[in-house]
Amino acid sequence: MPETQHGGEKSFRGIPVSAGVCRGKLLVLGRARPAIAKVQLSDTAVNEEVNRLEKALVQTRQQILDIQRKVSERMGAEEGSIFDAHLLVLEDRTLLDEVVRVIREQKVNAEHAFHTVAERYANTLAAIEDDYLRERATDMRDVTTRVLNNLLGLVEEADLRHLKEPCIIISHDLTPSKTAQLDKRNVLGFATDVGSKTSHTAIMARSLRIPAAVGLQDASGQVETGQYGLLDGLNGVLIVNPTDQTLYEYGQLILRQATLRQRLNDILAEPAVTLDRHRILLNANIEQASDAEQVKANGAEGVGLFRTEYLFLNHDRLPGEDQQYQSYREAAAALKPLPVVIRTLDLGGDKFLAHMQMPSELNPFLGWRAIRISLQERDIFRAQLRAILRASAEGNIKVMYPMISGLDELKQANALLEEYKAELRQEKIAFDEHLQVGAMIETPSAAMVADSLAKRVNFFSIGTNDLIQYSLAVDRMNEKIAHLYEPTHPAIVRLIKTTVDAAHRHQVPVSVCGEMASDPVLAPLLLGLGVDELSAAPSLVPPLKFLIRRLKLSEAQQLAAFALECESAAEILSRCQELARAIAPSLFENK
Ligand code: PEP
Ligand code: MG
Repeated sequence: MPETQHGGEKSFRGIPVSAGVCRGKLLVLGRARPAIAKVQLSDTAVNEEVNRLEKALVQTRQQILDIQRKVSERMGAEEGSIFDAHLLVLEDRTLLDEVVRVIREQKVNAEHAFHTVAERYANTLAAIEDDYLRERATDMRDVTTRVLNNLLGLVEEADLRHLKEPCIIISHDLTPSKTAQLDKRNVLGFATDVGSKTSHTAIMARSLRIPAAVGLQDASGQVETGQYGLLDGLNGVLIVNPTDQTLYEYGQLILRQATLRQRLNDILAEPAVTLDRHRILLNANIEQASDAEQVKANGAEGVGLFRTEYLFLNHDRLPGEDQQYQSYREAAAALKPLPVVIRTLDLGGDKFLAHMQMPSELNPFLGWRAIRISLQERDIFRAQLRAILRASAEGNIKVMYPMISGLDELKQANALLEEYKAELRQEKIAFDEHLQVGAMIETPSAAMVADSLAKRVNFFSIGTNDLIQYSLAVDRMNEKIAHLYEPTHPAIVRLIKTTVDAAHRHQVPVSVCGEMASDPVLAPLLLGLGVDELSAAPSLVPPLKFLIRRLKLSEAQQLAAFALECESAAEILSRCQELARAIAPSLFENK
């Protein structure tokens, strides 16, 4: 890994995923627990070891009671009672007597004795064909980890919802659900060892407007909690113990960014129109209703993608129809008459729910995901579609299905939508009878049958994040093959063109809501290929508008014509860079 050192300064280079620069104390999460060593004790040390164990048990009990109280206050007594099972483990005399016996008889340290005995119990429970007992094995392992952390003097992993002071989070990985918990007031930024630009963790970071870098390889193993660091989300660099010179250079960069932001603010209220007067619709991607404010603040013209799964990830149980209705209604009402495209649940892949049984799969991105789940779990789909329909009475809502891979899925989803509409009519509940329906084009198969799909929808939205991973067979999460994840691959250019042409033959407009749309280098290529709308994280809308207002559609069309003939992803990319840098150089002054 390219790591440099100057006078105590250490830097780690990775992939930039969310712009911005921040400085502050580092908080390293999830450091693996050191191996539990077996220490042979002298006769006199044995009593002291038993005391250490007793103390760790008391400390653990106190910690669990604290968590139980907090959970009960926040979520109710029923959720709090989950921790009763954890407390029971600490009162299990058979287990504890056995640990004390091992310490005394074998004269070994408490960590080793506790770990060995508890693991044996947990393994026995886990092997029994009984869901209840298997759960107890999980409880036992949770409690064991706490007791061992206390014995080893390790600090418990921070509760990301309640950080006490502002810090930069450093972690090997951060799941989308953990990212969703980040308390923005205290998280200055985050950096992870793994990940890629289009992982949902990265997407969340952009949406939260937290500077972030991923793919820093082993940074989390090389830095310590409490060290001072600077995170550059524009270039994907983490600098620990920055020198005065580095801090000065970053001060200059921050000033240049502020000047650019001023120029972007000046055109917030202007339309996205090219120099040759071609109007482009610029929308925003959101994850929750409260993001609607950001949509307007950044001059977007609506929501092109409402990723509803965060409503599910952010809660400890499945949100019901009413709860979802409130959320969709809130977004639609806040933006009325601007459109809000609500995408139905896109779970699976890298998005899991702790409270929903999801199969463990060898290839989760090729597995039980998105519309495939919705079409099987009818109760979940019904609640969501009814909530969307009901909210459509209160604003300009459209619905969109994720990961359609063929006509049958689209037909089934549409048939269910009609069924739920009929229910609501019967119940005399209002909804928009003309609710527009869209399909995401994010599998190569959908692009190839776009003609058939276009006959049955009102709009398409190309999900390039997935379209690229599925077409090029490159896992979008894997930093080792990030160099193969090429949005300008000739295959991608041609699939987008095929989709746009099919759609336009049926007067169906095409949006792109994947990360490709938010890259000012790539947006002209999409527009040249005939894409009608772009949808990006709210904070990325102003630079796109700035670029479009300096672009001629004819130039974009020439670029697309070149790309359709070209055989090299690198050459296409380099042409895209040439054009973008020529028309909007100030967007690229990030060094
Ligand atoms: C996409 O795949 O491009 C997309 C927008 O959906 P998501 O990133 O949520 O998978
Ligand atoms: Mg997708």
